[in-house]
Amino acid sequence: MVSIASSTPTARLSAKLPRSLKRLADLAHNYWWCWAADQVSLFELINPDEWERCGHNSIALLETVSYERLTQLAIDPLYLKRLNLLVADFDRYMAAENTWATRVAPQISKTHPVAYFCAEFGLHESLPVYSGGLGILAGDHLKSASDLGVPMVGIGLLYRQGYFRQRLNRDGWQEDYYVDAPFDRMPLKLLTDEQGQPYVVEVQVRQRIVKVQIWQVQVGRVALYLLDTNRDDNDPIDRWLTGHLYGGNQETRIAQEIILGIGGVRALQALGIEPGIYHLNEGHAAFCLLEVSRLEIQRTGKSFYDIEASVRDRCVFTTHTPVPAGHDVFSADLMDSFFAQYWGQLGLSREQFLALGARRLGDPWEPFGMTVLALRLCRTANGVSELHGQVSRQMWHVLYPDKTEDTVPIGYVTNGVHASTWTASLLGDLYSQYLDEHWFDKVFDPQLWAKVDQIPDEELWWRHMVLKERLVAHARFRIKQSRKNRGESPDTIAAADQILDPNILTIGFARRFSPYKRGDLLLRDADRALKIFSSLERPVQIIFSGKAHPADEEGKRIIQRLMEWCKQPAVQNRVAFVEDYDMYTARKLVQGVDVWLNNPRRPLEASGTSGQKVCFNGGLNCSVLDGWWCEGYQTDASGKGLNGWAIGEDAHTSNQELQDKIDSDSLYKLLEEEIVPLYYDQDSDGVPHGWVTMMKNSIKTNGLAFNTHRMIADYVTRVYAPGTKAEIGQSLAKVPV
Ligand SMILES: *Cc1c(COP(=O)(O)O)cnc(C)c1O
Repeated sequence: MVSIASSTPTARLSAKLPRSLKRLADLAHNYWWCWAADQVSLFELINPDEWERCGHNSIALLETVSYERLTQLAIDPLYLKRLNLLVADFDRYMAAENTWATRVAPQISKTHPVAYFCAEFGLHESLPVYSGGLGILAGDHLKSASDLGVPMVGIGLLYRQGYFRQRLNRDGWQEDYYVDAPFDRMPLKLLTDEQGQPYVVEVQVRQRIVKVQIWQVQVGRVALYLLDTNRDDNDPIDRWLTGHLYGGNQETRIAQEIILGIGGVRALQALGIEPGIYHLNEGHAAFCLLEVSRLEIQRTGKSFYDIEASVRDRCVFTTHTPVPAGHDVFSADLMDSFFAQYWGQLGLSREQFLALGARRLGDPWEPFGMTVLALRLCRTANGVSELHGQVSRQMWHVLYPDKTEDTVPIGYVTNGVHASTWTASLLGDLYSQYLDEHWFDKVFDPQLWAKVDQIPDEELWWRHMVLKERLVAHARFRIKQSRKNRGESPDTIAAADQILDPNILTIGFARRFSPYKRGDLLLRDADRALKIFSSLERPVQIIFSGKAHPADEEGKRIIQRLMEWCKQPAVQNRVAFVEDYDMYTARKLVQGVDVWLNNPRRPLEASGTSGQKVCFNGGLNCSVLDGWWCEGYQTDASGKGLNGWAIGEDAHTSNQELQDKIDSDSLYKLLEEEIVPLYYDQDSDGVPHGWVTMMKNSIKTNGLAFNTHRMIADYVTRVYAPGTKAEIGQSLAKVPV
């Protein structure tokens, strides 16, 4: 008898493993492992070099590692002990009935889960379908929903070549390249029906019907469905519709958003899933509102305007972009060519249809805005920090002419990060000892974080220093690789081992190199910066990482300027650029730096999350008061920072030149007068107690507020709960130091 189970990818993999290691197949197929307490070593131990080569992909590793090696581990009692402990944790986790959500949010039922739509998901570096902040947030959202037991499914696209990869040439100029993802050797399952045929949904893209297949990725208890057009029976051009994340022109973009929004709703329907809530994470997915409406019209036989309210009841929207130009808009021409056959199915005329996305009605040149569509057809809308909520109300006031700006119905839920994904195991272990064995289940419990003060300074400090050593080693390794790839001289390659020093005050700066993030602000007064970094008694070093969008010439020039600056003898070992920023480098950075620098042009950073990751690891933020940091930063009575530093304080001008000067001067002054002296004020035991006090302040204040468990709890009670409206100006309780 052929059992159905033997045909699943997990069963096929398990069949190849020695009997004592069979459960590795279950772990490998569920990204739960990447935030489990034992994350560092489970797969890596099998073969560290192979692990590196296959991009930390659990399936590729198990498929390629030799049977010889597997059987060595299969008889190693220590390895088996760890594996069995982890498997027991995993089984308990997957089977748990009594979760936070069953207690607090029983109204969200498993039969009507939340469907969370996003154009990108950042779960782990081995699944490269993310570009940056939006995707990482979406990944962390699913992980916390899983931990808290909130019934949820994710919907996204499976990009064959993901986001572009970055390398720098000898002139410091970014070159972009693409790599095919090996779907058949990834923790993915192509969904098939009882006959073994892939589920296929059809979506009309212009004149053609495109067939879309569905892959499932398991994220703890949450399923993420990724849509893919790369099928033999599609036109060769359409096979590339899900080729690249944020690549291509407006036509590719609108086609991708049609696949995501319309295809996404159809995929859920094909799988028999009836969402209770549709959560649109950013405007990219807003076409799903049209399809939900179409289905409702089909089901009830009513008109669009009669079902509009019932659709709105089920849909919620999160906006992420504080600049008007950052919101997707499509010209009326483009809309005509993609939707001419669609609006009739909604019972709408062309004008009525286009009006759904028009900021101002009656203007024939008004493009179709995805954010506008979402604001019109969703029950709630929210920004991602308090300041961003305010900026969004201002930006979209035009849609609500009968309201004053501060009553525009856009609220906010401040972003957070998934604590056990981003906290180094070495520190997580410390929190388990001093806070609570299950600290990561309780990250939104104030009593938990109050216990941070009980951690001995020395204990926190040595663990931090070891993590910094790990970061330095990672940076050197990657720089060496880059130099080899560029064909540099053997001396230059060997010199990579001299870069950085774990004893030195270490700043991290890693994010997209977009001009508004001002990646080169630190170099504004090059002489003053040089003096700070090359000081003999109290030196400073900095590690940069990040990509510029392929079309962003100015962003690429900023990277080039940094690479140029690194070459000066006085700082050549004090400045490092790690190429091809991804979640792995991000973890090493946020877990190892002393200071995280963030100096965007305010208020263009909607929230930012990388600085929050740093807090969980004891790093200190030095940032412009923008995004989440407005809510996180705390001062004492004299205005001095208690849990980090604020660049430029509250001085704001619309003159960019002047603002750059104010902010860079403020940054130099902070470094010279506060940050450097405090770091180097170390006792005979080598511990800078004043610094460690700030580390503890940062951990306990920010840890409580800026995690995705708190964020999910906010979404569940303030957004997903039936009948809630955007609560304007509701602020998070500030946690006193
Ligand atoms: C956290 C993270 C981001 C987001 O960083 P911000 O600039 O703070 O929004 C981007 N990329 C990666 C790889 C990350 O891990």
